[in-house]
Amino acid sequence: MQRITLTHSNATCNIFIGPELLDDKQLFSGLLSLANYFIIVSDENVASLYATPLLSYFKTKKCDLITIPAGEKSKNRVVKQQIEDQMLSLGCGRDTAIIAVGGGVITDLAGYVAATYCRGIPSLYIPTTLLAMVDAAIGGKTGVNTRFGKNLIGSFYQPKHIFCDLNVLRTLCHDEFANGLVETLKHALIVDNNFFHQLTPLLDKLNTQHSLNVEELELLITRSCQIKCDIVAKDEHERNGLRQLLNFGHTIAHGIEVLKDYDISHGQAVLAGLWIESCLSHLCGYLSKDTFVVITHALAKIKFSTPLAITASQ
Ligand code: NAD
Repeated sequence: MQRITLTHSNATCNIFIGPELLDDKQLFSGLLSLANYFIIVSDENVASLYATPLLSYFKTKKCDLITIPAGEKSKNRVVKQQIEDQMLSLGCGRDTAIIAVGGGVITDLAGYVAATYCRGIPSLYIPTTLLAMVDAAIGGKTGVNTRFGKNLIGSFYQPKHIFCDLNVLRTLCHDEFANGLVETLKHALIVDNNFFHQLTPLLDKLNTQHSLNVEELELLITRSCQIKCDIVAKDEHERNGLRQLLNFGHTIAHGIEVLKDYDISHGQAVLAGLWIESCLSHLCGYLSKDTFVVITHALAKIKFSTPLAITASQ
C-alpha cells in the first residue's frame, strides 16, 4: 500500500493507494473516532457494489446511506439540498462525518455538502473511478454546476482521508477508465517528463492487452496523486498561478461540456481541450512543433469508444 500525505492550510489529508483497501476492517475501525454518525453518499451504480458493504464497519456508531442518481446532471444545487434535507431529517448534527463513495461527481458534491453542513463536518473520500483517484478527490475543490457553467458554486474543503482501492477499478467500463488516463497524462505533461515516458508505454499496453497489473496501476495512480499534491501544497487556493497548471485543457473542456449539456464525459472533453490548447499554444509560437506532435501522439493513445479525430497536421 502506498501512502501520500498532503499538507494543506488546515491540517493534513492522507491518501492511501493499494489493492483490497475496502476489505481492511482495521483501516476503517481507525476512523470510528471521527464522528458519532456516518453518512455515506454514493450514486445508484456504485452504492450496492462498494457503499452498502461499508455500513457494517460503522455498526457500533450510527450509519446511513444516501444514494443519488449517477452522472454529471446530479452535480447541482437541487441534489445538494436533497442530501442536506435527508441528513437534517435523520437528525445529523455536527458530530456527523460524510463518506463519499463514487466518482468525481460524488466527491465534488458530497465534499461540498460536508463543507457547508453545520458550517463544516469531516469528510472521507473513497473514489471509485480512476479520474476521481488521480484528480477529483485530491486538492479540496468541491462544488456543483449551474446552468451558467461548471463548478461555479463551491468551496475549498479538504477531506481527512482518501482511500483509493485498486480493486474497485475492475468494474469500471473502458471509457470511464480512459477519462482518468486523460487527467493522468495531463499531470505528466505539465510537470514530469520522466512520468510521461513511464506512462506512454502503459497507454500502449492498454491498447494491446486492455489491462494493467497492480504494480503498474499503483505507479500510475501514486505518481499522478503525488504531482497533484505537490502543486496543491504550494498553491492550495489557486492564488499564485501554480495550481492553474492543473487547468491545462480545462478552459476549452468546460466550454465543450456546457455546449454539449454535459452529454460528453469530462475526460473526453479534457482530451479535446488538451489538444486544442496545445494547438493554440503552437500557433501562437509558444509550443514547438516537435513537442506539439509528441503531445498529439500521446493523446491519440487514449481511445474512447466514440473517438475524437486528432491529427498531427498543422
Ligand atoms: P462520475 O462520478 O460521474 O462517474 C462516472 C460513472 O462511473 C458514473 O456513472 C458512476 O456511477 C460510474 N462509476 C463510478 N465508479 C464506478 C466503479 N468502480 N464501477 C462501475 N461504475 C462506476 O464521473 P468522474 O469521471 O469520476 O468525475 C467527473 C467529475 O469530477 C466532474 O464533475 C468533474 O468536474 C469533477 N472533477 C473535479 C475535480 C476537482 O479537483 N474537484 C477534478 C477533476 C474532475
